[in-house]
Formats: sequence, C-alpha cells, structure tokens
Amino acid sequence: MEMKNTLLSLLLLTGSTLTSYAQKTDWSKKNWSKPEATEFWDVKPPIVTPAQKPGDAPSDAMVLFNGTTMNQWVMSKDGSPANWNLKDGAMTVKLNTGDIQTKEQFGSCQLHIEFKIPADSKNSADPHNAGNSGVFLQERYEVQIFDSYQDEVPLYSNGQCGSLYKQAIPLANACSQPGEWNTYDIFYTEPSFHPNGAVNVPAYITVVHNGILVLNHFQIQGPIAYIGVPKYEPHSKASLKLQGHGSEVSFRNIWIRPL
Ligand code: MG
Repeated sequence: MEMKNTLLSLLLLTGSTLTSYAQKTDWSKKNWSKPEATEFWDVKPPIVTPAQKPGDAPSDAMVLFNGTTMNQWVMSKDGSPANWNLKDGAMTVKLNTGDIQTKEQFGSCQLHIEFKIPADSKNSADPHNAGNSGVFLQERYEVQIFDSYQDEVPLYSNGQCGSLYKQAIPLANACSQPGEWNTYDIFYTEPSFHPNGAVNVPAYITVVHNGILVLNHFQIQGPIAYIGVPKYEPHSKASLKLQGHGSEVSFRNIWIRPL
C-alpha cells in the first residue's frame, strides 16, 4: 500500500495525463516484488520537436509575437488594438500609451521573451524610467526589466532587472549592455485558491536571464505592490502583460507553452 501511494503521488505530480492513467490502473493486480510494478509503459509524454535554433519556438509552442504583427495584443487600459511601434521585427513601447497584454489568457506556463533596453537609457531624466518595463505573469506578478547593466543606474536591488519586483533580488546581474538583446526564459506555476478566497498553493517562478539562473523556484508572495506588502487575491487565468513605463523598451520572439 505504501508503494502504491508513493507511485500515485509521483503520478499526480507529473500531470493530468498521468493522473488519469493512475486512476485507470488496477493497482491490486501489481506484483510489488517485480521490477515491472514500478515501470510505466502505457502512457507517454507528447513528442515535441525542438526548434532549429536555440531560443526559437518548439513545435508545440504558441507564438505570441514573431516580429510581423501585434494582432495577439491589446492595450491594457481599454482593450483596443496594441499600438506600440512595430519595426524591424520588434515591438517597442510607445511612450504615454501604457501597457499591452495578450488577448489569450494563461495559467502555468513556460515563456520565452527577448527584450532590448534603449542604448541611451541611463541618460533618462527620471532614473526610474531607465529601461523600465516588465513581464507580468497573469497581469499581476512582475519580472522586472530595467537598465541594471553593470549597476550603472542606482536602484534598490529587489527592483533591478531580473527581480520579482519588490519581492526577490535576482541571484545574479546578467544584463546585456543597453542596445543589445536579452532573453528571459520563465517557468511559472500559477497559484491556487480555496473556495473562501484564501491562497491554497502560492505561485512559483524560475527565471533564466541570458542563460543564467536569476530566480530559482521563488515562492511569489502576492501581486506586485509598489507600496506596502503583497497580498494574494483569488483569480483565474489571465493575460500576459508587458509594461509601458516611460522607456522605449523593445520586444521580439515571444512564445509560450501553457503547462
Ligand atoms: Mg517595471
């Protein structure tokens, strides 16, 4: 019985396909003294073809921006078509227009996104605008984008590039020079909530910046709070949002794999 429970919990942890397999299996027929009892043959993970070039979308990814159209994005403030600047295969923040977000809504996911901070960002009149943007998972949880290259622009560490904004200091400063492209590979597990609204399991996030681990399975404390402490509120699937914050940050090659 103990072996069965261990196997069941392993299956439940690995995904819904395996969960249904676990439920269909007649565990009473297993001979636990045989190696076959702990081998799974009847279920296989889906076959996914990797991209030709590292960083490009694998075969099962949903491409959110490929450099030619912003038709999967809308302005966050009113749902009108995204009107950031589309040029040279990138979309760039248009000042004073605000955030954009996907039409589609997501939960747990693997996300790849590339971004570029303007070459002259450190000359920004307001230092808080120096390359400031951000990737908001589920419209709430911000992986910060900022000109933190070589720590030339002063900022609190839990707000620098690669931070989970005001919650987690990145494990490393992996920033490319402004004017050069960066990559974020983000692995995100959505939170779950009790029927009474209390958080059941908090959200977790892992972020790889330019190939370097900067957030390692960090337990998100709640939606970003500029002032005060974060506090969870129940929500369901939500958009991926990109922040327009006074700096002409560019984005390209955005794809997502819902998990
Ligand atoms: Mg930001």
